[in-house]
Amino acid sequence: MRSHLLNDRTAGTYRRTVTAGVEHIAARLAHADRPFTGITPPALAPVVDAVDLDHPLGDADAALAELDRLYLRDAVYFHHPRYLAHLNCPVVIPAVLGEAVLAAVNSSLDTWDQSAGATLIERRLVDWTTARIGLGPAADGVFTSGGTQSNLHALLLAREEACDGVRKQRGAGLRTPEILPRLRILASAHGHFSVRKAAVLLGLGEEAVVEVPCDAERRMRPDALAAALAGLQRDGLVPMAVVATAGTTDFGSVDPLPQIAGLCAGYGVWLHVDAAYGCGLLVSGRRRHLLAGIERADSVTVDFHKAFFQPVSSSAVLVRDRATLRHATYHADYLNPERMAAEQIPNQVDKSLQTTRRFDALKLWLTLRVMGADGVGRLFDEVCDLAGAGWRLLDADPRFEVVVRPQLSTLVFRYVPGAAAGPSGTGPDPADPALTDPDLVDAANLYAREQLAASGAALVAGTKVDGRHHLKFTLLNPETTTEDLAAVLDLIAEYAAAYTGESLVPDVPAASAVPTR
Ligand SMILES: *Cc1c(COP(=O)(O)O)cnc(C)c1O
Repeated sequence: MRSHLLNDRTAGTYRRTVTAGVEHIAARLAHADRPFTGITPPALAPVVDAVDLDHPLGDADAALAELDRLYLRDAVYFHHPRYLAHLNCPVVIPAVLGEAVLAAVNSSLDTWDQSAGATLIERRLVDWTTARIGLGPAADGVFTSGGTQSNLHALLLAREEACDGVRKQRGAGLRTPEILPRLRILASAHGHFSVRKAAVLLGLGEEAVVEVPCDAERRMRPDALAAALAGLQRDGLVPMAVVATAGTTDFGSVDPLPQIAGLCAGYGVWLHVDAAYGCGLLVSGRRRHLLAGIERADSVTVDFHKAFFQPVSSSAVLVRDRATLRHATYHADYLNPERMAAEQIPNQVDKSLQTTRRFDALKLWLTLRVMGADGVGRLFDEVCDLAGAGWRLLDADPRFEVVVRPQLSTLVFRYVPGAAAGPSGTGPDPADPALTDPDLVDAANLYAREQLAASGAALVAGTKVDGRHHLKFTLLNPETTTEDLAAVLDLIAEYAAAYTGESLVPDVPAASAVPTR
């Protein structure tokens, strides 16, 4: 069994094993003609269940061949240009190299004595990111597992700062549990659900999140925020944080950061900017101005695994004032005794919610060292351009209704029955009121999305707008073309029309509608 340990004597096995894996994946990637095979849980679960975990295969080649049947053959491939569903990006090769290096060396980023140079590299990248944001000389931060953790972390710091503020005003003897019921978090209706989850984890309850209304572009309305803040003050409640979103998950809308920052400064409220998606703008050559005002944040979430073409996980939470990170500092004799801080030995565990932690920063480091920030920014600009072109397609197409013109790279739209009946007059009457029944429209869009996924020809996401089912393209692949978007829209229209009965060739079986690509 020792032959499986990676060490000086097994370097040859390591090289052969990992190279075989890389060859296998390279072939898979090269031959993926669709983003998905459309396999269903009932079809795949028995194959996975049938594996006897107590009877090892003993050999990596055999395990890889088995894995191919269980996973690789039917995986969802984000690199495929017709993967248009969630905020998953194709990854850049320097970052994948980083992933391979970090797994093999296996540094842990909690303390210097488990990481050495890795800690310094992560610190440089935190500084690089805070400088891009413009957070100022006292800024700091730490890498996290994702935007959910970054938001939780930022809101923990905000909570502790708010508690300190209340104690200063009302008496140092007040205990945290006495203060928590009065704390409120303000976020727009389009803010990420992880904010509500964080409120629960932080002991505030979901009710502590006050939803601030948005404008037609799905951006937080500053007048509504002002009213909400004034209301809290009137009621003797404490606004603990305002969460502005720079790139909402559904619409990619960027809240008006300068106005929000002004209000936060006026009320002395912590401003957290959730830029999990919009962080790509930090390196954009043409759209950086969309983030104007982010430099006034107290904390910022960035997800490199969304907009920087990094493999999962790679995220960070950044703060304006490094002193606030102390709220996550606890000491253990075995790990980070207080004398270490006195000796100025660099240590990241004092800033993190995690203890043992991956060297995810390495992926971004190699990306920047190979491609540079401008290179990443160009790719992000390309997907935003593509979304603009997609919006023009949709806007000009009577078969579809598109909700807002995108600021970033998502498109939310839906099929509207009627137009597909065509001018020939051979189909059903486009003015037929049965075709405009909202439940039918919902069902047709849902059906089109499901059929498309079952065919595997393309994957699109779904969401609700004003309670009604819509479809969503999340564009993060610069390889996707407007022709891809047009072809997928045709497929959606075909499926939806088959559902509503508009189709001249009713109920085409899914498989026959799949183009071979
Ligand atoms: C994706 C997303 C998150 C959550 O990030 P994870 O990395 O998935 O945990 C938070 N906020 C916004 C705006 C997001 O789009």
